[in-house]
Amino acid sequence: MPNAKAYSASSATSPLAFTSIPRREPTERDVEIEILYCGICHSDLHQVRNEWSAIPTVYPCVPGHEIVGRVTHVGAAVKKHKRGDIVGVGCLVDSDQTCPQCEANLEQFCPHAAFTYNSPDKHGTAPVTYGGYSTSIVVDEHFVLSVPGNLSLAGVAPLLCAGITTYSPMRRWGDLKGKKVGVIGLGGLGHMGVKFSHAFGAHTAVLTTSPNKTESALSLGADEVIVSSDANEMQKHAGSFDFILDTVSAEHDINAYLNLLKIDGTLTLVGAPDKPLPVSAFGLIFGRKRLAGSLIGGIAETQEMLDFCGTHDITSEVEVIPIQQVNEAYERLLKSDVKYRFSIDMASLKSA
Ligand code: NAP
Ligand code: ZN
Repeated sequence: MPNAKAYSASSATSPLAFTSIPRREPTERDVEIEILYCGICHSDLHQVRNEWSAIPTVYPCVPGHEIVGRVTHVGAAVKKHKRGDIVGVGCLVDSDQTCPQCEANLEQFCPHAAFTYNSPDKHGTAPVTYGGYSTSIVVDEHFVLSVPGNLSLAGVAPLLCAGITTYSPMRRWGDLKGKKVGVIGLGGLGHMGVKFSHAFGAHTAVLTTSPNKTESALSLGADEVIVSSDANEMQKHAGSFDFILDTVSAEHDINAYLNLLKIDGTLTLVGAPDKPLPVSAFGLIFGRKRLAGSLIGGIAETQEMLDFCGTHDITSEVEVIPIQQVNEAYERLLKSDVKYRFSIDMASLKSA
Protein backbone atom coordinates (compact mmCIF):
# COMPACT_ATOMS: atom_id res chain seq x y z
CA MET A 1 0.00 0.00 0.00
CA PRO A 2 1.40 3.46 -0.86
CA ASN A 3 2.23 5.81 2.00
CA ALA A 4 1.75 9.56 2.25
CA LYS A 5 3.44 12.08 4.49
CA ALA A 6 0.99 13.71 6.89
CA TYR A 7 0.48 15.66 10.10
CA SER A 8 -1.60 13.95 12.77
CA ALA A 9 -2.64 14.41 16.38
CA SER A 10 -2.22 11.42 18.68
CA SER A 11 -4.53 12.71 21.45
CA ALA A 12 -6.81 15.63 22.29
CA THR A 13 -3.95 17.43 23.99
CA SER A 14 -1.03 16.62 21.70
CA PRO A 15 0.16 18.98 18.99
CA LEU A 16 -0.05 17.92 15.35
CA ALA A 17 3.17 16.23 14.30
CA PHE A 18 4.78 14.64 11.26
CA THR A 19 3.79 11.07 10.46
CA SER A 20 3.36 8.61 7.62
CA ILE A 21 -0.09 7.19 6.69
CA PRO A 22 -1.31 4.48 4.31
CA ARG A 23 -3.34 5.43 1.23
CA ARG A 24 -5.18 2.75 -0.74
CA GLU A 25 -4.19 1.58 -4.20
CA PRO A 26 -6.67 3.37 -6.49
CA THR A 27 -9.65 1.19 -7.51
CA GLU A 28 -11.19 1.57 -10.96
CA ARG A 29 -13.52 4.31 -9.65
CA ASP A 30 -10.80 6.21 -7.79
CA VAL A 31 -8.85 9.38 -8.42
CA GLU A 32 -5.40 9.75 -6.83
CA ILE A 33 -4.54 13.35 -5.99
CA GLU A 34 -1.29 15.10 -5.11
CA ILE A 35 -2.43 17.68 -2.55
CA LEU A 36 -1.22 21.23 -3.26
CA TYR A 37 -3.09 23.26 -0.61
CA CYS A 38 -5.34 22.45 2.33
CA GLY A 39 -7.32 25.04 4.29
CA ILE A 40 -7.56 25.03 8.08
CA CYS A 41 -11.23 24.93 9.13
CA HIS A 42 -12.28 25.55 12.73
CA SER A 43 -13.90 22.08 12.51
CA ASP A 44 -10.36 20.64 12.23
CA LEU A 45 -9.52 22.23 15.56
CA HIS A 46 -12.81 21.09 17.20
CA GLN A 47 -12.16 17.53 15.98
CA VAL A 48 -8.44 17.35 16.79
CA ARG A 49 -9.18 18.50 20.35
CA ASN A 50 -12.18 16.16 20.68
CA GLU A 51 -14.53 19.08 21.44
CA TRP A 52 -17.66 17.52 19.86
CA SER A 53 -19.30 14.98 22.15
CA ALA A 54 -21.57 13.88 19.24
CA ILE A 55 -18.58 12.94 17.04
CA PRO A 56 -15.80 11.54 19.25
CA THR A 57 -12.34 11.67 17.73
CA VAL A 58 -10.46 8.50 16.81
CA TYR A 59 -6.67 8.93 17.14
CA PRO A 60 -4.40 9.31 15.34
CA CYS A 61 -6.41 12.05 13.64
CA VAL A 62 -5.29 13.57 10.32
CA PRO A 63 -7.61 16.56 9.77
CA GLY A 64 -8.18 18.64 6.62
CA HIS A 65 -11.23 18.85 4.35
CA GLU A 66 -10.46 21.86 2.18
CA ILE A 67 -8.30 20.12 -0.38
CA VAL A 68 -7.08 21.25 -3.77
CA GLY A 69 -4.59 19.26 -5.81
CA ARG A 70 -3.48 17.71 -9.07
CA VAL A 71 -4.66 14.34 -10.38
CA THR A 72 -1.78 11.87 -10.58
CA HIS A 73 -3.73 8.72 -11.51
CA VAL A 74 -7.28 7.70 -12.42
CA GLY A 75 -8.88 4.24 -12.36
CA ALA A 76 -10.10 2.65 -15.59
CA ALA A 77 -13.78 3.52 -14.99
CA VAL A 78 -13.20 7.18 -14.10
CA LYS A 79 -14.94 9.54 -16.55
CA LYS A 80 -14.99 13.00 -14.97
CA HIS A 81 -11.28 13.55 -14.36
CA LYS A 82 -7.94 12.79 -15.98
CA ARG A 83 -4.28 12.87 -14.99
CA GLY A 84 -3.04 16.48 -14.63
CA ASP A 85 -6.47 18.02 -13.84
CA ILE A 86 -6.72 20.44 -10.92
CA VAL A 87 -9.43 19.17 -8.59
CA GLY A 88 -10.93 19.71 -5.15
CA VAL A 89 -12.14 17.47 -2.33
CA GLY A 90 -14.30 18.80 0.50
CA CYS A 91 -15.81 17.20 3.58
CA LEU A 92 -17.25 14.11 1.86
CA VAL A 93 -15.40 11.12 0.38
CA ASP A 94 -18.12 8.47 0.24
CA SER A 95 -21.86 7.72 0.51
CA ASP A 96 -24.06 4.81 -0.56
CA GLN A 97 -25.30 6.72 -3.65
CA THR A 98 -28.61 4.81 -3.52
CA CYS A 99 -30.58 6.28 -0.59
CA PRO A 100 -33.21 9.03 -1.00
CA GLN A 101 -30.75 11.66 0.27
CA CYS A 102 -28.11 10.67 -2.29
CA GLU A 103 -30.77 10.61 -5.01
CA ALA A 104 -31.68 14.17 -4.00
CA ASN A 105 -28.00 15.23 -4.30
CA LEU A 106 -27.78 15.62 -0.53
CA GLU A 107 -24.95 13.15 0.09
CA GLN A 108 -24.06 14.97 3.32
CA PHE A 109 -27.20 13.47 4.89
CA CYS A 110 -26.69 9.92 3.60
CA PRO A 111 -26.77 7.45 6.54
CA HIS A 112 -23.62 5.87 5.05
CA ALA A 113 -21.76 9.10 4.27
CA ALA A 114 -18.03 8.99 4.95
CA PHE A 115 -16.44 12.27 5.87
CA THR A 116 -12.91 13.10 4.73
CA TYR A 117 -11.46 12.43 8.19
CA ASN A 118 -12.55 10.60 11.34
CA SER A 119 -15.16 8.42 9.54
CA PRO A 120 -14.94 4.61 9.42
CA ASP A 121 -12.85 3.77 6.33
CA LYS A 122 -14.96 1.37 4.27
CA HIS A 123 -11.90 0.39 2.22
CA GLY A 124 -10.16 -0.84 5.37
CA THR A 125 -6.97 1.07 4.60
CA ALA A 126 -7.00 2.47 8.14
CA PRO A 127 -9.50 2.44 11.04
CA VAL A 128 -10.80 5.86 10.00
CA THR A 129 -10.44 8.17 7.02
CA TYR A 130 -7.43 10.50 7.02
CA GLY A 131 -7.79 14.05 5.73
CA GLY A 132 -5.91 16.62 3.73
CA TYR A 133 -2.98 17.57 5.95
CA SER A 134 -1.07 15.12 3.80
CA THR A 135 0.77 14.86 0.50
CA SER A 136 -1.82 12.73 -1.32
CA ILE A 137 -5.32 11.28 -1.10
CA VAL A 138 -7.34 8.66 -3.02
CA VAL A 139 -11.04 9.45 -3.52
CA ASP A 140 -14.01 7.98 -5.40
CA GLU A 141 -14.51 10.15 -8.50
CA HIS A 142 -18.06 11.12 -7.49
CA PHE A 143 -16.60 13.16 -4.61
CA VAL A 144 -13.89 14.88 -6.66
CA LEU A 145 -14.77 18.38 -7.89
CA SER A 146 -13.49 20.26 -10.95
CA VAL A 147 -11.73 23.54 -10.16
CA PRO A 148 -12.18 26.52 -12.54
CA GLY A 149 -8.87 27.38 -14.22
CA ASN A 150 -8.85 31.11 -13.46
CA LEU A 151 -8.66 31.01 -9.66
CA SER A 152 -5.58 31.08 -7.39
CA LEU A 153 -5.31 27.66 -5.80
CA ALA A 154 -4.36 28.64 -2.23
CA GLY A 155 -7.61 30.64 -2.09
CA VAL A 156 -9.66 27.88 -3.76
CA ALA A 157 -8.96 25.28 -1.04
CA PRO A 158 -11.25 26.93 1.58
CA LEU A 159 -14.13 27.04 -0.91
CA LEU A 160 -14.44 23.26 -0.45
CA CYS A 161 -15.82 23.73 3.08
CA ALA A 162 -16.15 27.40 4.09
CA GLY A 163 -17.40 28.23 0.59
CA ILE A 164 -20.10 25.60 0.22
CA THR A 165 -21.23 25.88 3.86
CA THR A 166 -22.14 29.54 3.37
CA TYR A 167 -23.26 29.34 -0.29
CA SER A 168 -25.75 26.51 0.31
CA PRO A 169 -28.01 28.07 3.02
CA MET A 170 -28.05 31.40 1.18
CA ARG A 171 -29.14 29.72 -2.06
CA ARG A 172 -31.69 27.68 -0.15
CA TRP A 173 -33.25 30.81 1.37
CA GLY A 174 -34.12 32.06 -2.12
CA ASP A 175 -33.36 35.20 -4.10
CA LEU A 176 -31.41 37.47 -1.76
CA LYS A 177 -31.27 40.41 -4.17
CA GLY A 178 -32.25 43.55 -2.28
CA LYS A 179 -32.78 41.65 0.99
CA LYS A 180 -31.07 42.55 4.26
CA VAL A 181 -28.64 39.79 5.21
CA GLY A 182 -26.51 39.50 8.34
CA VAL A 183 -23.40 37.37 8.78
CA ILE A 184 -22.41 36.69 12.41
CA GLY A 185 -18.67 36.12 12.93
CA LEU A 186 -16.10 37.29 10.39
CA GLY A 187 -13.86 34.22 10.26
CA GLY A 188 -13.23 31.61 7.59
CA LEU A 189 -16.92 30.86 6.99
CA GLY A 190 -18.12 34.39 7.71
CA HIS A 191 -15.90 36.14 5.20
CA MET A 192 -17.09 33.74 2.47
CA GLY A 193 -20.68 34.43 3.56
CA VAL A 194 -20.04 38.15 3.06
CA LYS A 195 -18.59 37.58 -0.41
CA PHE A 196 -21.54 35.42 -1.51
CA SER A 197 -24.19 37.68 0.03
CA HIS A 198 -22.64 40.64 -1.77
CA ALA A 199 -22.46 38.68 -5.05
CA PHE A 200 -26.15 37.72 -4.67
CA GLY A 201 -27.05 41.42 -4.46
CA ALA A 202 -28.10 41.54 -0.80
CA HIS A 203 -27.58 44.47 1.54
CA THR A 204 -24.96 42.77 3.69
CA ALA A 205 -24.17 43.48 7.33
CA VAL A 206 -21.42 41.87 9.37
CA LEU A 207 -22.16 41.25 13.05
CA THR A 208 -18.83 41.00 14.79
CA THR A 209 -17.22 40.97 18.22
CA SER A 210 -14.06 42.48 16.68
CA PRO A 211 -14.35 46.22 15.92
CA ASN A 212 -10.88 46.08 14.34
CA LYS A 213 -12.31 44.01 11.45
CA THR A 214 -14.57 46.87 10.27
CA GLU A 215 -12.43 48.18 7.44
CA SER A 216 -11.63 44.81 5.95
CA ALA A 217 -15.28 43.69 6.29
CA LEU A 218 -16.26 46.64 4.10
CA SER A 219 -13.54 45.81 1.57
CA LEU A 220 -14.88 42.22 1.37
CA GLY A 221 -18.25 43.60 0.22
CA ALA A 222 -20.14 44.32 3.46
CA ASP A 223 -22.40 47.38 3.33
CA GLU A 224 -22.21 47.90 7.07
CA VAL A 225 -20.62 46.49 10.20
CA ILE A 226 -22.41 46.10 13.53
CA VAL A 227 -20.35 45.51 16.65
CA SER A 228 -22.48 43.01 18.53
CA SER A 229 -21.36 44.13 22.00
CA ASP A 230 -22.86 47.60 21.35
CA ALA A 231 -26.44 47.22 22.62
CA ASN A 232 -27.57 50.56 21.17
CA GLU A 233 -26.37 49.70 17.71
CA MET A 234 -27.95 46.25 17.91
CA GLN A 235 -31.27 47.82 18.96
CA LYS A 236 -31.21 50.14 15.93
CA HIS A 237 -31.34 47.06 13.69
CA ALA A 238 -34.06 45.20 15.64
CA GLY A 239 -36.70 43.60 13.40
CA SER A 240 -34.91 44.50 10.16
CA PHE A 241 -33.13 41.40 8.78
CA ASP A 242 -34.58 38.94 6.26
CA PHE A 243 -31.86 36.35 6.79
CA ILE A 244 -28.97 35.89 9.22
CA LEU A 245 -26.20 33.32 8.94
CA ASP A 246 -24.56 32.41 12.27
CA THR A 247 -20.99 31.13 11.82
CA VAL A 248 -19.82 31.44 15.44
CA SER A 249 -17.65 28.58 16.71
CA ALA A 250 -18.16 29.17 20.45
CA GLU A 251 -21.02 29.65 22.94
CA HIS A 252 -22.96 32.89 22.37
CA ASP A 253 -26.42 34.37 22.93
CA ILE A 254 -28.43 33.74 19.76
CA ASN A 255 -31.49 35.50 21.22
CA ALA A 256 -29.74 38.83 20.67
CA TYR A 257 -29.56 37.98 16.95
CA LEU A 258 -33.08 36.51 16.67
CA ASN A 259 -34.24 39.92 17.87
CA LEU A 260 -32.79 41.43 14.69
CA LEU A 261 -35.01 39.34 12.36
CA LYS A 262 -38.11 40.67 10.63
CA ILE A 263 -41.42 38.81 10.88
CA ASP A 264 -40.88 35.43 9.13
CA GLY A 265 -37.14 36.07 9.05
CA THR A 266 -34.73 33.12 9.26
CA LEU A 267 -31.56 32.63 11.29
CA THR A 268 -29.54 29.67 10.02
CA LEU A 269 -26.85 28.15 12.22
CA VAL A 270 -23.76 26.77 10.54
CA GLY A 271 -21.35 27.34 13.43
CA ALA A 272 -21.02 24.22 15.56
CA PRO A 273 -20.28 24.97 19.23
CA ASP A 274 -20.55 21.77 21.26
CA LYS A 275 -22.74 23.18 24.05
CA PRO A 276 -26.49 23.75 23.47
CA LEU A 277 -27.53 27.34 22.80
CA PRO A 278 -30.56 28.45 24.90
CA VAL A 279 -33.41 29.85 22.79
CA SER A 280 -36.13 32.12 24.13
CA ALA A 281 -39.55 30.89 22.89
CA PHE A 282 -40.78 34.48 22.98
CA GLY A 283 -37.94 35.55 20.71
CA LEU A 284 -39.27 33.16 18.07
CA ILE A 285 -43.06 33.24 18.48
CA PHE A 286 -43.32 37.04 18.48
CA GLY A 287 -42.51 37.51 14.82
CA ARG A 288 -43.07 33.92 13.62
CA LYS A 289 -39.32 33.60 13.19
CA ARG A 290 -37.40 30.57 12.02
CA LEU A 291 -34.26 29.05 13.47
CA ALA A 292 -32.61 26.60 11.06
CA GLY A 293 -29.38 24.67 10.51
CA SER A 294 -27.30 23.72 7.51
CA LEU A 295 -24.47 21.24 6.87
CA ILE A 296 -21.95 21.85 4.06
CA GLY A 297 -23.72 21.00 0.75
CA GLY A 298 -24.10 18.09 -1.67
CA ILE A 299 -21.62 17.34 -4.42
CA ALA A 300 -23.66 18.86 -7.28
CA GLU A 301 -24.17 22.07 -5.31
CA THR A 302 -20.48 22.19 -4.40
CA GLN A 303 -19.63 22.04 -8.11
CA GLU A 304 -22.23 24.78 -8.76
CA MET A 305 -20.56 26.93 -6.06
CA LEU A 306 -17.08 26.41 -7.57
CA ASP A 307 -18.38 27.33 -11.03
CA PHE A 308 -20.08 30.42 -9.55
CA CYS A 309 -16.73 31.38 -7.97
CA GLY A 310 -14.99 30.90 -11.32
CA THR A 311 -17.51 33.16 -13.09
CA HIS A 312 -17.45 35.84 -10.38
CA ASP A 313 -13.73 35.55 -9.57
CA ILE A 314 -14.35 34.66 -5.92
CA THR A 315 -11.75 32.99 -3.71
CA SER A 316 -11.04 32.94 0.01
CA GLU A 317 -8.70 35.52 1.57
CA VAL A 318 -5.84 33.36 2.78
CA GLU A 319 -2.64 33.47 4.76
CA VAL A 320 -0.48 30.75 3.23
CA ILE A 321 1.63 28.86 5.78
CA PRO A 322 4.02 25.91 5.75
CA ILE A 323 2.66 22.90 7.60
CA GLN A 324 5.36 23.29 10.26
CA GLN A 325 3.35 26.33 11.53
CA VAL A 326 0.07 24.46 11.92
CA ASN A 327 0.05 24.35 15.75
CA GLU A 328 0.74 28.07 15.99
CA ALA A 329 -2.03 28.64 13.39
CA TYR A 330 -4.54 26.79 15.63
CA GLU A 331 -3.71 29.11 18.54
CA ARG A 332 -4.15 32.14 16.30
CA LEU A 333 -7.46 30.77 14.95
CA LEU A 334 -8.77 30.63 18.51
CA LYS A 335 -7.92 34.32 18.91
CA SER A 336 -9.62 35.26 15.59
CA ASP A 337 -6.16 36.31 14.46
CA VAL A 338 -6.28 35.36 10.78
CA LYS A 339 -7.54 37.21 7.73
CA TYR A 340 -9.46 35.05 7.05
CA ARG A 341 -8.32 31.48 6.44
CA PHE A 342 -5.02 29.66 6.81
CA SER A 343 -4.12 27.67 3.70
CA ILE A 344 -1.31 25.14 4.08
CA ASP A 345 1.17 24.99 1.19
CA MET A 346 1.73 21.25 0.94
CA ALA A 347 5.10 21.69 -0.77
CA SER A 348 6.34 22.26 2.80
CA LEU A 349 5.29 18.72 3.73
CA LYS A 350 6.76 17.09 0.64
CA SER A 351 10.18 18.45 1.51
CA ALA A 352 9.83 17.57 5.22
P1 NAP B 1 -13.34 30.83 12.56
O1 NAP B 1 -12.55 31.17 11.36
O2 NAP B 1 -12.66 30.65 13.86
O3 NAP B 1 -14.49 31.96 12.69
C1 NAP B 1 -15.41 32.01 13.76
C2 NAP B 1 -15.73 33.48 14.05
O4 NAP B 1 -16.71 33.50 15.08
C3 NAP B 1 -14.56 34.26 14.62
O5 NAP B 1 -13.74 34.81 13.63
C4 NAP B 1 -15.26 35.35 15.41
O6 NAP B 1 -15.67 36.40 14.53
C5 NAP B 1 -16.53 34.67 15.89
N1 NAP B 1 -16.42 34.23 17.29
C6 NAP B 1 -15.49 33.39 17.83
N2 NAP B 1 -15.71 33.20 19.13
C7 NAP B 1 -16.82 33.91 19.42
C8 NAP B 1 -17.59 34.12 20.61
N3 NAP B 1 -17.24 33.53 21.77
N4 NAP B 1 -18.68 34.91 20.53
C9 NAP B 1 -19.03 35.50 19.38
N5 NAP B 1 -18.34 35.36 18.23
C10 NAP B 1 -17.26 34.58 18.26
O7 NAP B 1 -14.16 29.48 12.32
P2 NAP B 1 -14.76 28.87 10.95
O8 NAP B 1 -13.77 27.97 10.34
O9 NAP B 1 -15.37 29.96 10.17
O10 NAP B 1 -15.89 27.91 11.55
C11 NAP B 1 -16.96 28.47 12.30
C12 NAP B 1 -17.82 27.37 12.89
O11 NAP B 1 -18.51 26.71 11.83
C13 NAP B 1 -17.05 26.27 13.62
O12 NAP B 1 -17.80 25.89 14.77
C14 NAP B 1 -17.01 25.14 12.61
O13 NAP B 1 -16.87 23.87 13.21
C15 NAP B 1 -18.36 25.29 11.97
N6 NAP B 1 -18.49 24.70 10.64
C16 NAP B 1 -19.71 24.21 10.31
C17 NAP B 1 -19.94 23.69 9.05
C18 NAP B 1 -21.31 23.21 8.66
O14 NAP B 1 -21.42 22.50 7.67
N7 NAP B 1 -22.35 23.58 9.37
C19 NAP B 1 -18.89 23.66 8.12
C20 NAP B 1 -17.66 24.19 8.49
C21 NAP B 1 -17.48 24.72 9.74
P3 NAP B 1 -15.67 37.95 14.97
O15 NAP B 1 -14.25 38.23 15.38
O16 NAP B 1 -16.06 38.65 13.73
O17 NAP B 1 -16.66 38.08 16.07
ZN1 ZN C 1 -14.78 22.75 7.48
